[in-house]
Amino acid sequence: MSSPVVTRFAPSPTGFLHIGGARTALFNWLYARGRSGKFLLRIEDTDRARSTPEATAAILQGMAWLGLDHDGDIVSQFENAPRHAEVARDLLAHGKAYKCFATQEEITAFREAAKAEGRSTLYRSPWRDAAPDSHPDAPYVIRIKAPLDGTTVIRDAVQGDVTIQNSQLDDMVLLRSDGTPVYMLAVVVDDHDMGVTHVIRGDDHLNNAARQMMIYTAMSWDVPVWAHIPLIHGPDGKKLSKRHGALGAQEYQAMGYPAAGMRNYLARLGWSHGDDEFFTDAQAQEWFDLDGIRKSPAQFDLKKLENICGQHIAAADDAALRQECEEYLKASGQPALTSAQADGLERAMYCLKERAKTLPELIEKAHFILTSRPIEVEEKAAKNLDPVSRGILNELTSQLQNASWNRETLEEVMNGFAAAHDTKFGKLAGPLRAALAGRAVTPSVFDMMLVLGQTETLARLSDAAAD
Ligand code: GLU
Repeated sequence: MSSPVVTRFAPSPTGFLHIGGARTALFNWLYARGRSGKFLLRIEDTDRARSTPEATAAILQGMAWLGLDHDGDIVSQFENAPRHAEVARDLLAHGKAYKCFATQEEITAFREAAKAEGRSTLYRSPWRDAAPDSHPDAPYVIRIKAPLDGTTVIRDAVQGDVTIQNSQLDDMVLLRSDGTPVYMLAVVVDDHDMGVTHVIRGDDHLNNAARQMMIYTAMSWDVPVWAHIPLIHGPDGKKLSKRHGALGAQEYQAMGYPAAGMRNYLARLGWSHGDDEFFTDAQAQEWFDLDGIRKSPAQFDLKKLENICGQHIAAADDAALRQECEEYLKASGQPALTSAQADGLERAMYCLKERAKTLPELIEKAHFILTSRPIEVEEKAAKNLDPVSRGILNELTSQLQNASWNRETLEEVMNGFAAAHDTKFGKLAGPLRAALAGRAVTPSVFDMMLVLGQTETLARLSDAAAD
């Protein structure tokens, strides 16, 4: 039986959760969740100068919004430094690494000479094969013994076999002279110790893989399956940047895109399952596979994101959407809904969610149920409440007094009323929208009446007729 899948997301906490990072996290999450595996989170906080707790908080917040839950405790790479150093010393003890006493000046001199002579400037330390009794009592770094010839092949699940000439690899430093481990060592040791079986990450790390492979080989550790995924580009084919719009996951949250739509869209960025554009989490987890990841960069397309988000809103459960709207208001610092408003929103949801692409659009359409008497009438709608229209509303109000409150009866009453006044129902709609919502653009009049209920509808109509 093959071992259970363990993936991880390993962000460096130096900024917000970038849309590219969010996609990397999502791919790892989908891969693990679809295989009853584990999805771990490691914060790569070894760069003390650039890592901040605010950035870690922003990354966690972004992941929480996207629903990318991780298993186990969050691992701090920095806290594992003693273990990383132990591995470097282990390699030293087994002759796979060596102490290098070269000073910075000597290394610079080596490089300059190599350059002048047209040789490779990769540093070759004279200490690699030095006998321990020749070692001075001076600061040293620990370097790995890189293979001197042959090739290293990275079997990448996305890029295929990537072959690197070992002559291109130097004896990289594992442990600095102050005893701190280098990042490359930290990643390998952590991935090994965390039992990571699949590393899915941006292809900007492909070059690191060859160097990391040296450590796996030296330690005789199993190499995880690597999948280096292409970057995300903007619609113009250039690397995604601020000029293409928002870059942070949080910005999309603030714009009110539903998390399910965002997950669906991000999953499609560089991965596909046949022609499927719209899918649920369950389907994504079932379908997601490394084979479906494209080698070429994905292009971010806001229109597609909106389209998919609209489909998710339309398909969502009313109670879940209500909750998501409430969370959106909270996250964007807007006043919370009262429980009566939230209940109204949920009752209205069926007539709001068909064409909304974002949560604020949905909330905007729900204005009629969120607002209360006296209804404030917008300028555009006010012209529909001239004296003639008010007279009509007055008459209509009395006819609706005894009507049964269902769609069929309401349609009957309205159409009958319009016919008796020798007009079309469309002519009544403007004054009704103004009276019920104070707006010129609203959901359908019948839907508003049904959601508001008889008492509230009649009260709003009489208010408008009396004004
Ligand atoms: N910390 C790295 C980054 O944020 C990721 C390293 C890895 O996935 O191996 O780009």
